[in-house]
Amino acid sequence: MTTPSTAADYAPIPRSALGPALNDQGYYVGRVERNLYWVTDGVYQAAFLTTADGVVLFDAPPSIGGNLRRAVDEITAANGVPSTVTHFVYSHHHADHGGAAFLFDGDVTRIGHEETRRLLLRDGDAGRPVPEVTFADRYTLEVGGERVELAWHGPNHSPDNIYIHFPDHDALMLIDVVNAGWVPIYNLNLSEDVIGYMGAPAIALDYPWTHFICGHLGRLATRDDVAVHQAYIADIEAASREALAAVDPVRYYVAAGENFWAGVKGHLDAVTERAAAPVIAKYTGILAAADVEVFTTTTTFAIMQSLRLDRGPSGPVHP
Ligand SMILES: [Zn+2]
Repeated sequence: MTTPSTAADYAPIPRSALGPALNDQGYYVGRVERNLYWVTDGVYQAAFLTTADGVVLFDAPPSIGGNLRRAVDEITAANGVPSTVTHFVYSHHHADHGGAAFLFDGDVTRIGHEETRRLLLRDGDAGRPVPEVTFADRYTLEVGGERVELAWHGPNHSPDNIYIHFPDHDALMLIDVVNAGWVPIYNLNLSEDVIGYMGAPAIALDYPWTHFICGHLGRLATRDDVAVHQAYIADIEAASREALAAVDPVRYYVAAGENFWAGVKGHLDAVTERAAAPVIAKYTGILAAADVEVFTTTTTFAIMQSLRLDRGPSGPVHP
């Protein structure tokens, strides 16, 4: 058993990493631009577009859950527009962002990447009804005179994670790559494709936008947030290359004798520690939770392994 961590165990959270206060029901809903809104519980984010023909909802994190309905009702009532959710868009298949999709049933059109549909059919979670409208590369969603551009640019955090661009709202939604003001959690935000994850921020920046709905945590992100995230990842990549070259594996394998896996552990732990330590020091006070060391060390381990296995070489070629 481990003892629960307290805030006192770590550096103070930079005020800039925090978002607006939540209401008594535990959510905040705010305008992104015009009729595009975002909702947060302080950790997760969703978005919705109100139109003359109904509401388009983007993601349904179960942690926000029923408060999505309250937020939609609050905004549509204030603006005198229909409150019915007619369209639901999955950013990707993960349950922590879509597990409350079942709350919006009836005559709703669900839209997602074709891989989202395949994975949801595979996983069979009643909380996440499969999208019946799917696409491979691009899809233009037009509802009530509004336009949203959905695009898939390859795997990153998940195989099916899409870019949701609101060209008439100066906004982009891309979930689970950048956490506004915070470091990624374990293993690059639990990402499956390391090279794809590392390249995603540049693709996001290629779109024109001012407001970035990134899925976490309590505030929207800016282009500067994406740049700081990119610098953090680039520093980990550079430190990993340096450490891979600098740490001599031989002594770890000699020490481990016939337990080859103990030798692997000794070597790779030494590389990871050497690479991560300066990054943790540099970003503490800049990115919230940078000093929760396991996040940066596991992210460093994942990047360092990807440098070997994806980019190569994985090691010397036997003569
Ligand atoms: Zn995810």
